[in-house]
Amino acid sequence: MVKPETLKNINEIRADFPLLNKSIYNRRLVYFDNGATTQKPQCVIDAVSDVYLNYNANIHRGVHTLSDLSSAAYENAREIVRSFINAGKREEIVFTAGTTASINAIAFSFGERYIKPGDEIVISHLEHHANIVPWQMMCQRKKAILRVIPINDNGEIIFDEYLKLLNSRTKLISVSQVSNALGTVLPVRLIIDAAHSADIPVLIDGAQGIQHGVVDVKKMNCDFYVFSGHKIYGPTGIGMLYGKEKYLDELPPYQGGGDMVDKVTFEKTTYNELPFKFEAGTMNYVGAIGLGKALEYVLDIGRDNIAEMEQDLLKHATDKLSAINGIRIFGNSENKIPIISFLIKNIHQYDAGMILDKMGIAVRTGTHCAQPVMDRFGIDGTIRASMCFYNTIEEVDSLVEGIEKVIEMFS
Ligand code: PLP
Repeated sequence: MVKPETLKNINEIRADFPLLNKSIYNRRLVYFDNGATTQKPQCVIDAVSDVYLNYNANIHRGVHTLSDLSSAAYENAREIVRSFINAGKREEIVFTAGTTASINAIAFSFGERYIKPGDEIVISHLEHHANIVPWQMMCQRKKAILRVIPINDNGEIIFDEYLKLLNSRTKLISVSQVSNALGTVLPVRLIIDAAHSADIPVLIDGAQGIQHGVVDVKKMNCDFYVFSGHKIYGPTGIGMLYGKEKYLDELPPYQGGGDMVDKVTFEKTTYNELPFKFEAGTMNYVGAIGLGKALEYVLDIGRDNIAEMEQDLLKHATDKLSAINGIRIFGNSENKIPIISFLIKNIHQYDAGMILDKMGIAVRTGTHCAQPVMDRFGIDGTIRASMCFYNTIEEVDSLVEGIEKVIEMFS
């Protein structure tokens, strides 16, 4: 149950998100596709339009008033992000286009700086394609080797197998905080501690972790942390990359252009200081300002409260769905966020997804950009209901009723 210090009850929270009031096929929308992207509270929509209505100007480049205002708002957003993840310094917060962009940036720069033929990068079998393909590309470029931590039938990494992968050739570990396909929370502290005891840095893909609880990069002690704004109630096209200063200092920039430079001549260019060395060209400053507002909104609701509300939803949904005859849930870890990935016996996931849509229920079907996870379970996709704190127990019950109707239609 929601703790007393929560300022808003669930109806007030839902009223903050205009899109949740929408009807689809004359049914009140039940939005269970939050793992793909989240809806936006009015305050974020207002923050974005406020830029365009009142102070839009390119950042960092002008002496005029509007440019000062937008630059200050952008740097204020950086400070909000820094404090949200408890990074030590603003220099360690680089804005990017999102998680995918952040991982590609590190894969390129880290590869250029540190990787030699025969070196190894370790990821897990639970990864989203965004945390697989950039490393494959880097391994191809640098003649390095990609190693994969296997998972068990519950969809958890097999920790002993992870430890066996660590050796003197291992140069980086890159794993998700939470699996987007199954909802499994990975033991990132243990992963990081084991890697650090062998002096190996760790990147944490926080795309599905940042929005479901408190993230403290100092406590976690990760070397890199990345996430996307659109998955935490912020705008699309903005995300961030946290890196410990010692690494960001040493890594070469991955893009060249305006703003990331100190002095440019045709013979030689010197780079700007952190974090600007990694922010080439016109940044998505409007998105960053919107993201800052989204993080403030999350803090207002309270991250512990959010986690608690979401665990209530997960428990209710798991109990109800697993009681339906013919449902198989993939990902049965004790430690999960409110994602339920499942299949209905003898009914293709696309058929089920399309019929649920006609009932106003938005779920995602397919491989969830995690084909290796599907291969591990010998399936070609699942139905994924991904919930968040603005969802309700009644909505979960609607999903259950919807699935029962789907089963009835096919029987
Ligand atoms: N990593 C994980 C675990 C994800 O769930 C996602 C998106 O679903 C990504 C990376 C990629 O995020 P984006 O598409 O916002 O770059």
